[in-house]
Amino acid sequence: MGRVALVTGGVRGIGAAIAKALTAEGYTVAATYAGNDAAAKEFREETGIAVYKWNVRDYEDSKTGIEQVESELGPIDVVVANAGITKDAPFHKMTPEQWNQVVDTNLTGVFNTIHPCWPGMRERGFGRVIVISSINGQKGQFGQVNYAATKAGDLGIIRSLAQEGAAKGITANAICPGYIGTDMVMAIDEKIREKIVAGIPAGRLGTPEEIARCVCFLASDESGFINGSTISANGAQFFS
Ligand code: NDP
Repeated sequence: MGRVALVTGGVRGIGAAIAKALTAEGYTVAATYAGNDAAAKEFREETGIAVYKWNVRDYEDSKTGIEQVESELGPIDVVVANAGITKDAPFHKMTPEQWNQVVDTNLTGVFNTIHPCWPGMRERGFGRVIVISSINGQKGQFGQVNYAATKAGDLGIIRSLAQEGAAKGITANAICPGYIGTDMVMAIDEKIREKIVAGIPAGRLGTPEEIARCVCFLASDESGFINGSTISANGAQFFS
């Protein structure tokens, strides 16, 4: 097939499952990470997938990293903006630092990831932009004013990009996962996690592979008329 895919935050959790699933479908994949060298090394050795390190919060770092990926693997056809963080606190205790870190990573980081890929996609007349948003961007969440704002903002990004890219063969879509059993969710206090699972009609957390399947669907050449959409994958917890 020969298509190249970039997955930010692609060495752990949902991103790692996405990188592996795209590789299995025949894409040449670049998986990025921020600082967890041990996880990146293990992922690289286990999968053979190319790994790159840069901070999505920094535009110049992202641009330089993307140029390196394109010179080594070829032009990026599919960009999956997956890297994200939480810094939870009830609003009255939320610090400007917690707000800024989450906005810089989950919202500005998405701009920094897509923007350098965009001109090449326009020139070549093909592109797939996929952003990993969240159920909590759709419905809001106690303790996540920062996170929910960024994930809702990500939906605004793809809906606008869809309109700008449609005539150039580019689609932009989002996936809103519910609760998935990754480090991010396993870091939640066990008692709170049990309550969360009790509120999911499916009666369980989702798996990273179930989100990766949505990405493969949206990335395919045959999904060209799906543009500006959101796939909710949340075990029937919430319908948008
Ligand atoms: P993890 O915490 O397991 O992994 C996050 C990945 O993002 C890591 O590879 C991490 O790099 C990378 N990352 C974090 N900050 C940066 C940064 N500044 N620059 C570059 N890379 C960075 O997260 P999940 O797999 O759980 O989540 C992936 C995405 O899915 C996130 O956007 C999250 O908000 C979203 N999501 C997750 C849900 C869940 O239940 N898990 C539910 C809904 C949405 P490193 O390995 O170096 O730390």
